[in-house]
Amino acid sequence: MSATTVETVERGSSGEALVERLAFPVVMVAAIASAIHLMNGGMHPMLAFALTQVPAFMTVIVLERIYPYHKDWNRSHGDVWVDVRHLSLITLTVAVLDPLFRLLGLAIVAWMAVTFGLGLWPNHWPLAGQLVLALVVGELGQYWVHRFQHEKDWLWRFHALHHSAPRLYWLNAARFHPVDIALNAVAANFVLIALGAGVEVIALWLLFSAIHGIFQHANLLIRIGPLNWIFSMAELHRWHHSRLVEESNTNYGQNLIIWDVVFGSRLLPDDREPPPDIGLTGLSAYPMTWAAQLMAPVHWRQIRRTSSERSVSKGVGEFESARARGGTQDVHPRAATPADEGR
Ligand SMILES: [Zn+2]
Ligand SMILES: [Zn+2]
Repeated sequence: MSATTVETVERGSSGEALVERLAFPVVMVAAIASAIHLMNGGMHPMLAFALTQVPAFMTVIVLERIYPYHKDWNRSHGDVWVDVRHLSLITLTVAVLDPLFRLLGLAIVAWMAVTFGLGLWPNHWPLAGQLVLALVVGELGQYWVHRFQHEKDWLWRFHALHHSAPRLYWLNAARFHPVDIALNAVAANFVLIALGAGVEVIALWLLFSAIHGIFQHANLLIRIGPLNWIFSMAELHRWHHSRLVEESNTNYGQNLIIWDVVFGSRLLPDDREPPPDIGLTGLSAYPMTWAAQLMAPVHWRQIRRTSSERSVSKGVGEFESARARGGTQDVHPRAATPADEGR
């Protein structure tokens, strides 16, 4: 895999300083507040979700062109149409899963009401409070699904697709295998629906996740200071895309970083920037076209075998960039634990 060329971007303009600190919180609060306003006015929650995410996406796309974090990450690496196809498939997957989950979830809620005489979800809370609760509860299942996706080879074969991205930009938020999407949806959406969360709070949770995901992968300089103890934003997530296992097997949070703090997997070094050369290590035979990526889990053994044959014939060359940054890289992933990573 070739190293990413990094061009220095001039820093320090007042516009960029504003974007760096304010873009994420301002866009997020504006979108959530607009969605609540539209729902209170009678709009269907899913329509409010669909409408309010568009201006947020457009804002990120435009800002990336003006204030890129790495100029090189604004150029196509042959990945744009692959990512567009992944986005289309994900939209379809969510569209199929959503009514299915709602049907099953409502059956569980009805069963709980009959059996225990109560629902578990505080539907009487203000919507903003319910959203906070949904983020915390939904994140717990997502944390463990994501962590296992890195630590178990039978799940990594699906999740490797997300980490095959050669650069980070807004569309990476959609670069997932449908099996990954389904697992995440079960871990969060389905659990929330089964607990009795209403369609309004599910729509807000989807909106928050979509906007957070776009900013998390955006090619923008984003610095949110102490909020990095709450949100799993770009500063943290760039380490998660490192080629070094000891760096990438950290920061599993999708929206919040709180469970990484609790379970000891948060990483945010203050003495260096995240690596600009990102992607997979030890999987040089991983395909880079859309259809082949969807089929990669089926051809996993062959991909692994070809990759290791290539690395043997190339000697240590494939691992030089990792070692140059002070790491001792394995084939990604191994069953890493906080203890053996020296955290
Ligand atoms: Zn991951
Ligand atoms: Zn990512």
